[in-house]
Amino acid sequence: MTQNFDLIIVGGGPAGLCAAMYAGRGMLNAVLLERGIPGGELLNTEKIEDYPGFITVGGPELAEKMTEHAKAFGADIRMETVDGIYREPDGTFRAECGSGEVYRAPTVIITAGGTPTKLGVPGEVEYAGRGVSYCAVCDGAFFKGETIAVVGGGDAAVEEAAYLTRYAQKVYVIHRRDQFRASKLLQERLFANPKIEVIWNRTVREITGDSQGAKSLVLESTLDGSESTLAVTGVFVFIGFKPNSGIIREHFEHDASGYIVTDDRMMTSIPGLFAAGDLRVQLTRQVTTAVGDATTAAIAVEKYLTERRSPSPAGV
Ligand code: NAP
Repeated sequence: MTQNFDLIIVGGGPAGLCAAMYAGRGMLNAVLLERGIPGGELLNTEKIEDYPGFITVGGPELAEKMTEHAKAFGADIRMETVDGIYREPDGTFRAECGSGEVYRAPTVIITAGGTPTKLGVPGEVEYAGRGVSYCAVCDGAFFKGETIAVVGGGDAAVEEAAYLTRYAQKVYVIHRRDQFRASKLLQERLFANPKIEVIWNRTVREITGDSQGAKSLVLESTLDGSESTLAVTGVFVFIGFKPNSGIIREHFEHDASGYIVTDDRMMTSIPGLFAAGDLRVQLTRQVTTAVGDATTAAIAVEKYLTERRSPSPAGV
């Protein structure tokens, strides 16, 4: 069945929920499509301490408040997995869902976020949120004075390891090769930091712990396969992040990693298709930046629709 709306919001994390709240306030006929429970990455974050107005708030609690807030302004939130977004010849969009439903609208805000690459080792799921993290800014402060590890050798690992030394007394960086892929400047900063020690040519084979959380890592040498143990209470995994931009089935401007390029209205290179939050090219990816993007995108959608309905006379 095909259903028509003014706006389709794809994704129900902070950006999607904020866009839905603004769309409701703007009296738009909008629908938000989310494959799971609304909240996105908030649901994987134990505590949030950098969202203004909340000195500390549980991630799931903030997700619930954002959902309630969006619903209070009439958000229509539906559990749907969007398989693809297609552009029709008339410039409108069609979102095809796994359920067989098709949603159609002249505008889309895609807020589908991204997925941190996982190590895929025993203990990773078990200790997620109890020692295993994919976000230094979100969770670093929980490791004050502790010894922790960062896994990876790209910009994210090298930059976040330095950030984590604000809290941790010691940060091991575990990399599978004998040189980093990170930019030279970030590497120089890392090597100059006395709290950081690099462990080269090792991968994490297992994360072990007890009822309190992670306690150590089993490491394996990539040179000779030998095993060793490293005592740490936290492990931050930065081995890549994949933006969920692949559901856009049309050509759009993006960077080398698949992050979507937008203009200052959050509009992508496809007119009427807007992007907000983690899958957009930007300096940092926080809850605050996601809701900021979404605010701009939702208001820009209102203006875009108004202009489409009553275009300015030629030459004006
Ligand atoms: P990335 O550049 O793809 O680096 C991933 C790192 O993880 C690589 O060092 C890789 O090792 C390692 N790795 C991959 N799979 C692994 C596994 N299974 N086990 C152990 N190690 C594994 O990813 P990123 O650091 O998240 O950066 C993603 C993009 O965002 C990049 O384009 C980056 O430049 C950009 N970024 C920029 C900044 C900045 O400029 N400040 C900050 C963050 C991210 P190998 O090197 O051996 O392949």
